[in-house]
Amino acid sequence: PEISLYEFFKQSVDKYPNHTAITFFNKTFTYEQLNQIIQIVAANLKNAGIQKGDRIGIMLPNCPQYVISYYAALLCGAIVVQVNPMYKANELLHVLNDSGSKILIVLDKIQPYIDQIKDKTQLELVYTVSLDGEEDRFNHLLQNRKLPVPNITIQPKEDVAVLQYTGGTTGLSKGAMLTHYNLVANTLQSAATSKMNTKLGEERTLTISPLFHVYGMTSCMLFTFHIGGNLILVPKFEPEIVVNIIEKTKPTIFPGVPTMYIALLDYYKEKAFDLSVLETCVSGSAPLPVEVINQFNEVSGTNVAEGYGLSEASPVTHRNPIGGLQKKGSIGIPIANTDAKIVDVETGEIELPVGEVGELIVRGPQIMKGYWNNPVETSKTIRNGWLYTGDLAKMDEDGYFYIVGRKKELIIASGYNVYPIEVENVIYTHPAVLEAAVIGVPDSYRGETVKAVVVLKENEQLTEEELIQFCRERMAAYKVPRSVDFVNELPKSAVGKILKRVLKDQYINS
Ligand code: ATP
Repeated sequence: PEISLYEFFKQSVDKYPNHTAITFFNKTFTYEQLNQIIQIVAANLKNAGIQKGDRIGIMLPNCPQYVISYYAALLCGAIVVQVNPMYKANELLHVLNDSGSKILIVLDKIQPYIDQIKDKTQLELVYTVSLDGEEDRFNHLLQNRKLPVPNITIQPKEDVAVLQYTGGTTGLSKGAMLTHYNLVANTLQSAATSKMNTKLGEERTLTISPLFHVYGMTSCMLFTFHIGGNLILVPKFEPEIVVNIIEKTKPTIFPGVPTMYIALLDYYKEKAFDLSVLETCVSGSAPLPVEVINQFNEVSGTNVAEGYGLSEASPVTHRNPIGGLQKKGSIGIPIANTDAKIVDVETGEIELPVGEVGELIVRGPQIMKGYWNNPVETSKTIRNGWLYTGDLAKMDEDGYFYIVGRKKELIIASGYNVYPIEVENVIYTHPAVLEAAVIGVPDSYRGETVKAVVVLKENEQLTEEELIQFCRERMAAYKVPRSVDFVNELPKSAVGKILKRVLKDQYINS
């Protein structure tokens, strides 16, 4: 995979020029049309002073301008900085200043907010994007159509394509440097695990997962373009709109996150709709409760395949093979060209036997170059070529891996290790439960105790005692939650990950 990401995209433009590359509500672009616009925008960006290695922040929801900006920046040799549109001022300042972004491409609605903080950053230019057909500054990048297309030499293994800021689920967000080589490799590795089922040039990908997050970027955008498919862009997750889009566009591939599967199922119960078009459903980025897989498979007739990855690995390292043996509750096996092992948490070195829980470490061409401007964190995370994921996992006798929780989220109750995912999986089997998060809260006697925070389905009722009793019948006593809180909503990140750090703070500080 030693080509640049733009050249990788261009291969599909040459192969499928008249296929639809993007659908955004009623708008479509063929590969050829998309490439022409990318070239114009790249030429205008270069004209605005962008040079190889400069950082360009893209802070957009899923829309054609995101895709155009992404490839135009790469064609200039610039580095794409993925900026979450939901960031608040302090997070935004951190990412813009840490990356030293020169340009920001952002929704017009957010511009007043950017104006307020711009002086504290190195931003030279801000291009606004309107999704309502209003005049915007992004248009300036399309005006001069006669400029020469940039012709920059890229060294795929050395040159960084994307600064992927980690979700910040566990702390301050760090910029994972993903090279062109990392991202092309991960796309090809993912393609190798789905080969049997992919119809080249014919697939349509339901792209609700945000592209500014590593999962949407690779599993939706890069993968779909590689197979000559149609990227169906959805800017926001609203079940009603999504169902409308499914009915209209008949997507064949759905890379979703657990909260999307949960919300779609919930909506389905209200108003059944045809989910059978979604032939290939994958889930990643957070644990997918087994009960959710069972229910979704039942109503859609598909087999949701869970995978696993992280920003630092471009992101995919594991997946249940599509068309092969899938194990529910498992993240599957390492994808092509990926080594994985479970090591002792204390030393980080001794490899553990089958079935024992330790830290998951991985190695392969998709592993980042390091963290941007952060050699200390890089050397802690990448050791002897292995990426230390910070996740606790075990492997079974068939080589399938199971994530049991993050190292930082492990609960130690009376000296026993309690893995939150295990407890959550049981709680999800209760028919009244919509969502659940299990955390450890301080306890003067036991060190920590297990607490469940639960959202019930509409019109359902359940008491704390009933849920505790339900758990008691299904798990060892030390794992059973000592307390249960019912809430209307759980705090979530932009990709719908339950923010346990925020949840914990709420209980510790209250
Ligand atoms: P930060 O690193 O800043 O705390 P983050 O870990 O959420 O944020 P990402 O790179 O978006 O950043 O997420 C990777 C993490 O998501 C993994 O390390 C793992 O904890 C979790 N994850 C991803 N897929 C799965 C899965 N299938 N099951 C369980 N956890 C998963």
